[in-house]
Amino acid sequence: MSDRSGSLRALPAVDRLADAVLAGDPAVTHAEATAAARAVLAERRVRLLAGERDDADLVALARAHLTPPLRRVLNGTGVIVHTNLGRAPLSADARDAVRAASSGYANVELDLGGGRRGSRDAHTRALLCELTGAEDGFAVNNGAGAALLALAALAGDGRAVAVSRGQLVEIGGGFRIPDVLAQAGARIVEVGTTNRTRREDYERAIGGQGAELILRVHQSNFRTVGFVEEVPIAQLCGLGVPVIDDVGSGALAGALPRLADEPDVRASLAAGATLVCFSGDKLLGGPQAGLLVGRSDAVERARRHPLARALRIGRLPLAALVATLAMYRDPERARREIPVLAMLERPREALAAAARRLAEAGGGEVVDAIGRVGGGALPLLELDGPAAALAPAGWRAEQLAEALRRADTPLLSRIFDGRVLVDPRTLDAEEVREAEGVIAATIAAGPPAPAPGP
Ligand SMILES: *Cc1c(COP(=O)(O)O)cnc(C)c1O
Repeated sequence: MSDRSGSLRALPAVDRLADAVLAGDPAVTHAEATAAARAVLAERRVRLLAGERDDADLVALARAHLTPPLRRVLNGTGVIVHTNLGRAPLSADARDAVRAASSGYANVELDLGGGRRGSRDAHTRALLCELTGAEDGFAVNNGAGAALLALAALAGDGRAVAVSRGQLVEIGGGFRIPDVLAQAGARIVEVGTTNRTRREDYERAIGGQGAELILRVHQSNFRTVGFVEEVPIAQLCGLGVPVIDDVGSGALAGALPRLADEPDVRASLAAGATLVCFSGDKLLGGPQAGLLVGRSDAVERARRHPLARALRIGRLPLAALVATLAMYRDPERARREIPVLAMLERPREALAAAARRLAEAGGGEVVDAIGRVGGGALPLLELDGPAAALAPAGWRAEQLAEALRRADTPLLSRIFDGRVLVDPRTLDAEEVREAEGVIAATIAAGPPAPAPGP
């Protein structure tokens, strides 16, 4: 008989493996241990039948199978709006609001005064109007959804939409403006050139090519520099057709010099934009959400469009969003307490002190590093500040970065110049303490044994 069937026969019975899993962890129930044992045994069988050699410890695999796949991590990358790490961390207020709204029921669609059915939008409408100067507004599931819905509502009947060739961008995850227009049911009229688009180009699109709408899209994750020209929003709004302005990130805090490059929602509306859309979890610093604000007739059309139901925001993000927006009533408080805004302005001395502690935990040194905003915002902005550079003896940088990622509380770092950098900009005070612990314990455990030679 083949070696293969031999190793198959050597696999433990489900119950025996489940008992071994149970023995190590009193929090696991019998049914959970059995499910995990079954899953890893099935996987092992497939591998063995495929002729692969696999002798990883089944008990450890089954335990790993039971650890939740989505976990809290420590972001030591220095990238503030890190899409792979869930973008914006929430403020304390927003976290409290989520806890409250998830602890039982919540009046998501109930008017408590009248006791009648209410609208999910009622929670955000007044705040959005107050903060942006819009006549009306509401939230959907994400920024991409907001842009799609705005286009579908105002141009989904096949209308021609003028878009500058310099703004036909891909945001990431396959979100490409020409495709979004097509999905929305609109027809695209490309205007101008990649680097220069002028007012006359738009006028020709409207007069000669029948464009009935203008879409402006913030370039977000790239910049054209040098011999460039775009038409300011105020001029676009004077061309006699409705303008949808997808500003991307939605800077609402004002007066943050580092955000001066981001288009301002309030300014777009004041200039006369019909609908402005932006993300909730980029520089707004809230949960994943997309916001649509603007003229009441246009917002109402978006609200009544069938896609609105498919894109509606969930109860927990809604709670976090309302709490986040409310903080902007006091812009100074927003800048202090909304994590992404606070991280942008973290004082150098505080960063230096944290970097020193992180460096000491790993026997490294403090270096000057460059952080990023990330999340498709401000691609050229470099946030320079001190970071801890770790290069303990016996470790390769990739090995250490991996070991830190595999810690009980994973710590994400970046590798620069053969060393592991841990950037304190994206860690709060408590997280710096946790990161110190992770670094010290990981290095104390030693580098992984070298793989056996061939
Ligand atoms: C990020 C972005 C989007 C998509 O928003 P998500 O919140 O990522 O869905 C759409 N348009 C622009 C201009 C963006 O920058």
